[in-house]
Amino acid sequence: MDRRNFLKSTGRWVTAAGLCTVAGGLVLRHELAKSDTTTVWQIDPHKCIGCGNCTKYCVLNTPAVKCFHNHKMCGYCKLCTGFFDPKSSETENGAENQLCPTAAIKRRFIEDPHFEYVIDSLLCVGCGKCVEGCTSFGNGSLYLQIDQVLCQQCNQCAIEPNCPARAIHRRPAMTPYCQKSEQG
Ligand code: SF4
Ligand code: SF4
Ligand code: SF4
Repeated sequence: MDRRNFLKSTGRWVTAAGLCTVAGGLVLRHELAKSDTTTVWQIDPHKCIGCGNCTKYCVLNTPAVKCFHNHKMCGYCKLCTGFFDPKSSETENGAENQLCPTAAIKRRFIEDPHFEYVIDSLLCVGCGKCVEGCTSFGNGSLYLQIDQVLCQQCNQCAIEPNCPARAIHRRPAMTPYCQKSEQG
């Protein structure tokens, strides 16, 4: 083999080896992601805008995304903007006055002028309407989280690429839920 043919043939082997390394790296990354049990999918509540895509894109018929309520942050408002439909002029608890499409938020009188709001997670479908309402006019004490009991930990969460706020991320399995605070 002359010098020119030797260099050509060596070049082909180097290119092929390089491609194998890249492909191998991608396969390895994929396998590592699949076997990653140290982190879980979760929503960053400080980024989430309650757009409704969680309900639309979660692979489960009953979405793994649920509304959580930070009672320490809540103002116990009489006119809760996460509870009442802004189109409603009534302040009675009737379903027709509520933002929640499944009546999953229970409103209870505490003492004038305070009311308590509790989420029935069995009824919640994670639509985010209450979150959007509370975040727009209140302090954001209602927020969405992926329920770790329900979530299947899909290799690629189906919501993640469809989240306009890029709020879906992986976080340590030891602390799977995000704490919402007023500071952000
Ligand atoms: S408005 Fe949507 S996210 Fe909020 S409690 Fe009702 S179903 Fe859940
Ligand atoms: S990982 Fe799967 S089950 Fe969990 S929230 Fe995402 S799509 Fe739903
Ligand atoms: S898709 Fe993103 S922004 Fe929309 S409700 Fe889910 S986490 Fe929030």
